[in-house]
Amino acid sequence: MTFPSNAHTHSRWCDGADAIPAMVEAARTFGFVSLGFSGHARQGFDPDYSMSADAQAGYFAELRTLQGAPEPGFPRLWAGLEVDALAHEDLRRADYAEADYVVGSAHYLCESWEGMPVAVDGDPALLRRYVDEVYHGDGLAMASDYFDIEVQALLRDRPPIIGHFDLLRKYAAPLSLFDEADPAYRRLALCALERAFPCGGVLEINTGGMARGYLPTPYPTPELLCAWRELGGQITLTSDCHDRRYLAHAFPEAAALARQAGFRTVLRLGTGEALWEETAL
Ligand SMILES: [Zn+2]
Ligand SMILES: [Zn+2]
Repeated sequence: MTFPSNAHTHSRWCDGADAIPAMVEAARTFGFVSLGFSGHARQGFDPDYSMSADAQAGYFAELRTLQGAPEPGFPRLWAGLEVDALAHEDLRRADYAEADYVVGSAHYLCESWEGMPVAVDGDPALLRRYVDEVYHGDGLAMASDYFDIEVQALLRDRPPIIGHFDLLRKYAAPLSLFDEADPAYRRLALCALERAFPCGGVLEINTGGMARGYLPTPYPTPELLCAWRELGGQITLTSDCHDRRYLAHAFPEAAALARQAGFRTVLRLGTGEALWEETAL
């Protein structure tokens, strides 16, 4: 196994396909040494997408029980959460306090527009209409606002993991929102990454868009990965797994991209008390 760990995974408690025990068993068969769950935490405005308060309590109860009775040969388990940049402050504070670690992610552009939350990875028709009407079709203006939302949250919350940094690429080409090769877009993304660096989080190379067939490459782009290495940042590999078959999806490709960007080490979730262990790439 190229990289025997994954800190960004979803189970049936939110929008994943599998129950936690099935994910853990899959991780064991992959030879994982550690496995972190990062269920979608409540944000306070899009209940269909996140765990309810009751589900979140059940999620932690199940994970804490499993953590309390570790079995030989099974990966070390971590009970994390994926917390959105726009999550309401009271929920956010409680979730950061309860979770072993947080993946800090920006999905939404706004909580409510025409009665619907608008996400860069949500309903494509809604996103297209939002960009047309709010930004007069200017996808770069939308990208600028997206990165502002993301960077502000990262600097405010300082999550241990920076989730899918350029998630807005998901529908960039299919909806012709912007050209990710456009120097103006690349400058926006690079500048946002530099602004986010002081948050201290570990940047994930996230193959989730590949596993689900949206993108041929991971988040973030190789250019951003190079910039992160030049800044002195650290990385981990994840598959934003929603299906246990994809627990280690495209990890060899992600590791190769990291090496090409100049990284020689990568962080994986720890096997003991420490959250991270550094390993050679
Ligand atoms: Zn996400
Ligand atoms: Zn996720």
